[in-house]
Amino acid sequence: MTRPPAVIVVGAGPAGLFAAERLAAAGAVVTVCDRMPSPARKLLLAGRGGLNLTHSEPRAAFRARYATLPPHLAAALDAFPPSALRAWAAGLGEHTFVGTSGRVFPQAFKASPLVRAWLARLARLGVSLVMRHRLVGIAAAGGLTFEGPQGRVDMPCDAALLALGGASWPRMGSDGSWTSLLEARGIALTALRPSNMGIEMAWTADFARRFAGQPLKSVALHIDGRSAHGEVMITAQGLEGGAIYALSAVIRESLAAQGSARLCLDLKPDLDGAAIARRLAGARPKDSLSATLRKSLSLSAQAVALLREAAGGPLPRDPVALAARIKDVALPVTGVRPLDRAISTAGGVRFDALREGFELARLPGIFVAGEMLDWEAPTGGYLLQATFATAAAAAAAMATRLGLPPPVRDSEGW
Ligand SMILES: Cc1cc2nc3c(=O)[nH]c(=O)nc-3n(C[C@H](O)[C@H](O)[C@H](O)COP(=O)(O)OP(=O)(O)OC[C@H]3O[C@@H](n4cnc5c(N)ncnc54)[C@H](O)[C@@H]3O)c2cc1C
Repeated sequence: MTRPPAVIVVGAGPAGLFAAERLAAAGAVVTVCDRMPSPARKLLLAGRGGLNLTHSEPRAAFRARYATLPPHLAAALDAFPPSALRAWAAGLGEHTFVGTSGRVFPQAFKASPLVRAWLARLARLGVSLVMRHRLVGIAAAGGLTFEGPQGRVDMPCDAALLALGGASWPRMGSDGSWTSLLEARGIALTALRPSNMGIEMAWTADFARRFAGQPLKSVALHIDGRSAHGEVMITAQGLEGGAIYALSAVIRESLAAQGSARLCLDLKPDLDGAAIARRLAGARPKDSLSATLRKSLSLSAQAVALLREAAGGPLPRDPVALAARIKDVALPVTGVRPLDRAISTAGGVRFDALREGFELARLPGIFVAGEMLDWEAPTGGYLLQATFATAAAAAAAMATRLGLPPPVRDSEGW
């Protein structure tokens, strides 16, 4: 080629912007198109929770967080591990720190400074951002069609990257409407499903009214041999929060397979049943049950109410029987919160629809990265890490295909 290759990246989320940066640095002329009026909306939303960029745990533990680890994804994570993401953020002036849980955050504890510095770098690299342009067609020869404020536009390119995200929080831009475009081109997809979402319970109206918005701190959850510890938030519809998200895939699959799921909540995971029973037995006989639970076990009002809600009748006064209830609050799950309320999306473009380098086997020259791929992981930084890693891998393969200089080697070990 005598002119520099032209690349279109569709999707101005972290996957698209990162691939755009890599490709522009390698010498491509890069245009990023997005249906929204401004870029990186979901990343900025993620910043409201501190922007958990990645996790500091060792490689084996980190990789085990992904529901499945197809070879493409495993190789991408090895080539662009958490240390590479942290180094990249530091290069934009956003040094990171490891929180008590091992999660990694930028020191600013939000996304906006990082996004500002990143967009300035992209502008310096000559990346053009074309906003308010929705992808509506993928031509066999590699050109793409967009619907913009002035109507339909065909954009030719030498290669394209689709980084269209999942379908959660559609107000942020990723609405999953790309599924019909790709299905029409014969690309194998796994149905999009909510991931890291809240669950639904048939609360009594009184419980929902009084306790929605109240946390249950330091509890343990068990279902189908899987466990999670942490904080859970009571909602009007059920429960949400980190510990629920960690088990949400198991709960979703259990509901899909059996039509029901039963979550067991341990309100005192640090004490065994015998220790709880001893404390209950030592309580003042004149105290009410609620006072006993509060004074001997420091159970909150909402934890006591949940015990009663799950019992559906009076609680046993016998210390051993009551301790057993506290260790195993049985909660039937009636459903999961819908995809548009989930943190992330499971399903998407299947890995067997890809060639090496995240290129669509049926659409040579068109690559895919980020959350629209069929991988699933809990919160904790695993979502953004896989988003960046797959974008780095796709950009490297695109650069090679376009005859651009070999990409930088990121891996500095885990
Ligand atoms: C509330 C919340 C908090 C989160 N917090 C964290 C966190 O702390 N840590 C973490 O690891 N992850 C977090 N995530 C998840 C993380 O934000 C996503 O995994 C990540 O943004 C995915 O990046 P992406 O580039 O693949 O997709 P997206 O960020 O969704 O970007 C996709 C882009 O494609 C555009 N687009 C879609 N369809 C079209 C179309 N047809 N035409 C043109 N443009 C289109 C969209 O407008 C969007 O800009 C959070 C998510 C939410 C909702």
